[in-house]
Formats: sequence, C-alpha cells, structure tokens
Amino acid sequence: MLGAASSICVETILLGVGSSGGSPALGCNCPTCVSTDPKNTRTRASAVMRAGGKTFLIDTGPDLRGQALREQILHVDAVLYTHPHADHLNGIDDLRAFCWLQKAALPVYGNRLMLGHIRERFPYTLMKPNEFWDKPVLTIHEVDAEAFQVGDVTIQPIPLIHGKWPILGWRIGNVAYLTDVSEIPEASMALLQDLDVLFLDCLRTKPHPTHLSVEQSLQIAAQIGAKRTVLIHMTHELEYHALSQTLPQNIEVGYDGLSITINNS
Ligand SMILES: [Zn+2]
Ligand SMILES: [Zn+2]
Ligand SMILES: [Zn+2]
Repeated sequence: MLGAASSICVETILLGVGSSGGSPALGCNCPTCVSTDPKNTRTRASAVMRAGGKTFLIDTGPDLRGQALREQILHVDAVLYTHPHADHLNGIDDLRAFCWLQKAALPVYGNRLMLGHIRERFPYTLMKPNEFWDKPVLTIHEVDAEAFQVGDVTIQPIPLIHGKWPILGWRIGNVAYLTDVSEIPEASMALLQDLDVLFLDCLRTKPHPTHLSVEQSLQIAAQIGAKRTVLIHMTHELEYHALSQTLPQNIEVGYDGLSITINNS
C-alpha cells in the first residue's frame, strides 16, 4: 500500500518541538530556559508536511498563529490530528485564518476519540460558513488504521497508545511523525518500515506514564531503524546541546523551524 507513496517528495517543517508548557517555562532558570540559543526555545508540538502539491498541518496547538507567521504557512489543504490534548488542539480557532484566505472549508482527519472532542469542545467550527468567514469552517473525517488519499497523496495513519488513549501518528511517503506516544502496537510497527525520517516523542529523562523517556525513545528509534530520527515534544529539562552530545549518529534533537526534505523520486 505504501509502495507508490514511498517515492514521493516530502518536505517537513517542525513548527514546534515543545511539550505542553513550551520552553522557556514560566519562572524557570534552568540552562534551557535561560539559554539565548533559539534551538532551546520550543513552541508547542506541531508540524507541516508538504507532498504532491498539498500542505498538511499536523495538530493545532496554542502557538499556531505565531508558527504560521514565522514559517509563512499561507495555505493548508488538510489538518491531520494526533489527539485532543490542549497543546495539540486548542489553537483550532486560528484555522479560521486559512478558511478566510481560502474561502473554503478545511478538511480535518482524526480518530473517533479526536473527532468526539472537536464536536464537544469546539462545535462552532462545524457550522456552515457565514459571509465573514469569521470562524473556522471544518469538515471532519474519521480515520483509523487505513491509508487514505488526499489528491494524489497517500496518507497512512499510525495507531499509537498515549497513556490510556488510542491516538494517531502520521506517515507520508518515507516520513513519519509520532508524538505523545507511550507504546507502539505491534501492527503499527509494521507500518513504520523503510523510513527515511522518523520524528519521535522524547519528553524528558525520567519515565512518564504517557510519553517516551529519552532511553525509551532511543530504544524505539533503534527498533524502527529509520535512516534519520529527530526527537520532538521535549520539556525544558532537555537542553539542546547537552542532549545532542549523548545521541548516536543517526539520531538528532529537533528544534523549531527545522526543515527536512526527502526526495525519493
Ligand atoms: Zn503533547
Ligand atoms: Zn527550565
Ligand atoms: Zn498528549
């Protein structure tokens, strides 16, 4: 199923690699939080993936507007949601800027849990547009483990476990984005073969019930064996340079604005 899709060119821009609080953390004086290196400033986790002439936004965190301005994201064809925690969903209102620019409803994809939260918490995003386009106008599409098409692009949802929640990671071509994961089911490991780039949750050093720790993240990265693994969704406990020095050669620390293009065609 992924054979044809694997040959497409995929550009990924990391909009944010922070955990729920972002870095610097309010009132903290740790080395990451006082650092003047932009690689230690982390907005909430989100990414853009471009393929087949389409732009896909992964999640809508509370920093979406600033991230879109910074990276000049002026057009979005679809939103791929991972899960409904506030740091991944609560910027949903800023999608109205894209609806306004495009004068069109924006399709969003998520699993049943995700779409239930949108219906309950943000029902005003599911109404018909008015003449002012002053609210997000979204159409929701429930997906699970089955690949689907947007235009010519095959998108593969990757079912994951985040504490007690079933959530989704996303794969386009040979690039996969897995955030907020505590466990990868066996069937999903099979969907993560032959990756050029893996973006992977790596919260902090200490184990956490709903995320991968550094040690777990490195173990899983080795198991998946992508050519290049980029760590994301980090707290301020992980300083960019200190963590970088401890990593094997094909694993690196992500940062806001990192852009990677894979061209396999
Ligand atoms: Zn998160
Ligand atoms: Zn700090
Ligand atoms: Zn989460």
